[in-house]
Amino acid sequence: MSICIAIANQKGGVGKTTSAINVATALAATGKRVLLIDLDPQGNASTGLGVHPSERKLSSYHVLIDRAPLPDAVVATRVPGLDLVPSTVDLSGAEIELVGFDGRTHQLDQAVRAVRGRWDIILIDCPPSLGLLTINAMVAADALLVPLQCEFFALEGLSQLLTTVERIRERFNPGLSIIGVVLTMFDRRNRLTEQVASDVRAVLGRVVFDTVIPRNVRLSEAPSHGLPALIYDHRCSGSEAYIALARELIARLPREKVAA
Ligand code: ADP
Ligand code: MG
Repeated sequence: MSICIAIANQKGGVGKTTSAINVATALAATGKRVLLIDLDPQGNASTGLGVHPSERKLSSYHVLIDRAPLPDAVVATRVPGLDLVPSTVDLSGAEIELVGFDGRTHQLDQAVRAVRGRWDIILIDCPPSLGLLTINAMVAADALLVPLQCEFFALEGLSQLLTTVERIRERFNPGLSIIGVVLTMFDRRNRLTEQVASDVRAVLGRVVFDTVIPRNVRLSEAPSHGLPALIYDHRCSGSEAYIALARELIARLPREKVAA
């Protein structure tokens, strides 16, 4: 068995991809076999892991639309134990192409089901929308990890996300859980972010991870080197935070899904 976790928030720029890359790396470092599926047409997770567009022969687009076997689209990354299904720009047309499919909400679920067991943890980096790509991720996933940026409007949009989760549970995937909400871009010197963090904790309670991801320039530099921050600079505050987050995440994984 394996667990599939989608990293979702329809807001852009909240730290989904940064979290996907670095949590995936931290999990792989613990010896787990990890697969990251890049489901964002922008392909930031693929680029951030150093997979050049010329190396992306098959992508998540082909898995979703052409039903290419998922293993055929897998490429190895420079991180031992971490594999990637890259995305290509074709994926930007997939939302519209999927509309014409009978199984439009279940394409990714079918592909992932066929390969469960090959990886201990499958992460999906979602695009910044609640369209069919994200819905495919929510149908395929056991759980969601939701990054929330520490800014004034942090909670705005969350109710829309939660409503979508509720609909997916009712119609397609009753077991879909929220494994946790992670506060990102936390700035200790800024009183507003402290206030936002405590407000979010007051509203959402224990679903919020204790670990907060600080605003850290090393996290934003690393992708331009095609490396996870955890490899680019494993001692920076951002890397340390992602290691702590991965530890908390592992503690929340259902035991029957992933062997300890
Ligand atoms: P999303 O995938 O939700 O759109 P990203 O992970 O791509 O968000 O982050 C948006 C931008 O912010 C990127 O340029 C990224 O490098 C930067 N970034 C993300 N997290 C942090 C952080 N904790 N500190 C500093 N920069 C960050
Ligand atoms: Mg992204």
